[in-house]
Amino acid sequence: MTETPIKSYHGSCLCQQVRFSITGFRGTVGNCHCTMCRKFHGAAFATLVNVEGLTWLSGLEQLKDFVAPNGTIRTFCSHCGSSIGFRSKDASLDEIEMAIATFDEDLPVNVDVQIY
Ligand SMILES: [Zn+2]
Ligand SMILES: [Zn+2]
Repeated sequence: MTETPIKSYHGSCLCQQVRFSITGFRGTVGNCHCTMCRKFHGAAFATLVNVEGLTWLSGLEQLKDFVAPNGTIRTFCSHCGSSIGFRSKDASLDEIEMAIATFDEDLPVNVDVQIY
């Protein structure tokens, strides 16, 4: 009898201090073109994914939150400035949508929607 290993995916920030793993994805993946996402990511749009089984492996103390005037929260690495994720007002860190660019490997997800 062999157990099916749980597939996990890993991500990190640019300086590698913030590292995390997840076990899966849920919901849709969207490219968000809103002004705040563009500024936050320093890119033409941001791609965020809803994840399952999020575990912070290191660097939690480096995470900093920016709370926008509308209450949405953007989390980034305070050491290297990498965009880590986004969550809605009052959501806990466990509910964060991860910035897809932080993952270290190719992901089995397709971008389904374009927003803004
Ligand atoms: Zn960093
Ligand atoms: Zn946005």
